[in-house]
Amino acid sequence: MFLNSSLTIGAFSLFRRKITGLNLNTFSIQSMNVYKEPEKELPVYGRFDVIVVGGGPAGFAAALSSLRNGAKTIIIERFPFFGGTATASLMTNINGYRNQVKPDGLQTSKGISEEVILRLKEINGLGRSSYAQEEYTTEKGKLSYSYAIDGEKTKYLLTRMLYDEGASILFHTIFVDAIMEGNNIIGIIIENKSGRQALFGKVVIDASGDADVAYKAGVPYWQADIKKDKHLANCLMYRVGGFDTKNIDKINGPVTKNSILYWGPSSDMDVTNADNLTRSEIETRLGVFEHFRKQQERSSPFLDNASIIETAPLLGIRQTRFINGLYKTTAEDAIEGRKFKDSISMSACPIINYYGYRRYLEHEGYEIPYRCLLPQKVEGLLVAGRCISSDQQSYESFRAMAPTMCLGEAAGTAAALCVKLQKSPKEINVEMLRDQLIKQGAEIGQNKKR
Ligand SMILES: Cc1cc2nc3c(=O)[nH]c(=O)nc-3n(C[C@H](O)[C@H](O)[C@H](O)COP(=O)(O)OP(=O)(O)OC[C@H]3O[C@@H](n4cnc5c(N)ncnc54)[C@H](O)[C@@H]3O)c2cc1C
Repeated sequence: MFLNSSLTIGAFSLFRRKITGLNLNTFSIQSMNVYKEPEKELPVYGRFDVIVVGGGPAGFAAALSSLRNGAKTIIIERFPFFGGTATASLMTNINGYRNQVKPDGLQTSKGISEEVILRLKEINGLGRSSYAQEEYTTEKGKLSYSYAIDGEKTKYLLTRMLYDEGASILFHTIFVDAIMEGNNIIGIIIENKSGRQALFGKVVIDASGDADVAYKAGVPYWQADIKKDKHLANCLMYRVGGFDTKNIDKINGPVTKNSILYWGPSSDMDVTNADNLTRSEIETRLGVFEHFRKQQERSSPFLDNASIIETAPLLGIRQTRFINGLYKTTAEDAIEGRKFKDSISMSACPIINYYGYRRYLEHEGYEIPYRCLLPQKVEGLLVAGRCISSDQQSYESFRAMAPTMCLGEAAGTAAALCVKLQKSPKEINVEMLRDQLIKQGAEIGQNKKR
């Protein structure tokens, strides 16, 4: 038996030496902690004007606006559907179309983010938000702060919109590396069922939420220190159904399809590390039924016959890396409602928890400069969504899905403009970009009075 197995190991390492051409023996395989991957040639999947990495709220809007502005665009996404946190993490409640409290006269998120609500309404895809404002509607220009959305109809709609616009789409595909020529990003490396491939693009938009592309391209970034800094924790969302729907108004939470959404067990780890991400997924998943049992106790008797009908496929990840860009939005920008000459979008959402309470803004919204989408040190790259250049407090405001879609729309429009003018993102005329965004129906502060 012993002889047999040592023979097998010996034969295996001989075989391995043969196929890799490396002088590896069993001992060195067991003791080494770095492995030098042999060089290999990668097939080129295609050449595009614009590559969008990540199909969350920001990436979806970025790809759509890039396409609508005439650029040949591909979007890659690791899940087989769009929506990111909204769908993969079941966060089916879009916030941020205007200030949640007075002064709330200005609808600060418009354009594609508004179109999503109007089109969800057409297909009966809206529910009851727990933050509804009664004076507002589902009409263009009169949107409320918040809407509950049907997750399945959202997956359908976002796919429909990108597909109809002629997007090249690659699902089940992860971004693994940046292809650099000096400081210029000229493409990306992806992996999927077909293996490892290269993609080339004139402009790359990082809408991965975690700034994966910027990180690999060498962009400086910052991250909250989980042990010391104030930050927003991650949590596993779940949906509850099977209860008597005549009691639905007695239970607090966003409602769609006769089900209620719950913010489940939370976890506090740096999930850019795969072990931490796995541990967070395991711990929150193991805690979800106990979490629900406590909700049942609290809402008894209304939830007595209810059950969990769905947990999110992916832990809800609130924050990881933030790029260091040409400008960093600050708490003062948000609290004072600052305006910027290169504003490309707005936010009026509260700062969720930094001050230990929900700090509402006392104005109609602050502006977000184009420079926050432009990373330091790297050319040819735009960043959109929750990982743009900002400090903790302002992030806690613009992170809501309506403003992140607006950031995506701005990035996609800018990328297409770069292609048209044959310029890099840092070289384009910002006035041209702002004019185009206004033409598309975006709010970039042009209607702000207070
Ligand atoms: C628990 C929780 C509760 C929240 N509550 C609300 C709320 O009530 N209302 C609200 O409006 N907002 C809420 N938010 C915030 C909001 O959901 C996010 O800030 C927003 O979704 C950010 O959008 P994004 O497109 O930047 O990133 P994400 O939504 O994170 O999307 C990133 C996308 O990129 C893909 N991706 C990532 N890495 C790769 C890779 N390497 N290769 C390929 N694809 C990749 C992901 O699969 C994902 O689809 C909440 C967030 C969380 C986590």
